[in-house]
Amino acid sequence: MLYIGSHVSFNKDTQLIGVVETALSNNANTFMFYTGSNQSTLRFPIDKNLTDKAHQIMCENNIEREKCIIHAPFIINLANNSDERKYQFYIDFLKQEIDRCIALGINNLVLHPGSHVSVPKDEALLSVSKGLNEALKEGQNINILIEYMSGKGTEVGSTIDELKTILENVIYKDKVFICLDTCHINDAGYNLNNFDDFLDEFDQKIGIDKIKCIHINDSKNSIGAHKDRHENIGYGTIGFETLINIIYNPRLDNIPKILETPFIEDKSPYKTEIEIIKQKKFIEFKWTFYICYKNLIILYKLRHLFYL
Ligand code: FE
Ligand code: FE
Ligand code: ZN
Repeated sequence: MLYIGSHVSFNKDTQLIGVVETALSNNANTFMFYTGSNQSTLRFPIDKNLTDKAHQIMCENNIEREKCIIHAPFIINLANNSDERKYQFYIDFLKQEIDRCIALGINNLVLHPGSHVSVPKDEALLSVSKGLNEALKEGQNINILIEYMSGKGTEVGSTIDELKTILENVIYKDKVFICLDTCHINDAGYNLNNFDDFLDEFDQKIGIDKIKCIHINDSKNSIGAHKDRHENIGYGTIGFETLINIIYNPRLDNIPKILETPFIEDKSPYKTEIEIIKQKKFIEFKWTFYICYKNLIILYKLRHLFYL
């Protein structure tokens, strides 16, 4: 079955209800969100009433909670343990995020492995595993999904081998998984036209059953650019056909696919992108956004002409 959705926003007043309603309005059957700003540690409390109501709406609309995703904030960096105080702060913050996931009943948490900065790479990979070992607890109902990164700057986790090392050194192996990202894999140096070769290698080294989520993004950059700039579906260097082949690859059936493509003129592209993915047929959609936007400006100017 196809589980397709996008990144959506989570706000203080509507919380999970707002998330579910946005996803439904995009005709999505899964979603991903941050439980607060992804650059800061400010977090508002989770409202149990809103959460219960949201679960009910999900149930009524056949959205399966096990297929929905939360993304941890970017600031958590388990790969650099050179400053003991900071490292401990990130672990504690991750623990808090895990508690928020559990309170929201969404148990898949995507985490960037982080940047090693000055620490040697093998030490950094070990530091990620150690951080996870400290943040996780026996019996906890949570899956941490380590994201495959593009290798921008000093990011770790941009090869299958590096991810394998992280997974090998975690204690709670049943709680740590992988989240792929098509833009990141492209930017890290793999040609996605040979995605089955990538999957073969992944399967042999880690196991396809470890993939719990796939971010579907086109890329603004060429293979191996180590840039990490997402592009709308069909408008980048990966291309529509290749992305469709990945989305519908039978080996990845039932794995939630999440769009993290950029907004166009401040408008969400997700409803349109989900539609063309379901149709498996590319239509130029950016220009309609531009036309809408420009007409709005014209209307606005006309209004000024007549009323002012
Ligand atoms: Fe991410
Ligand atoms: Fe991603
Ligand atoms: Zn990215």
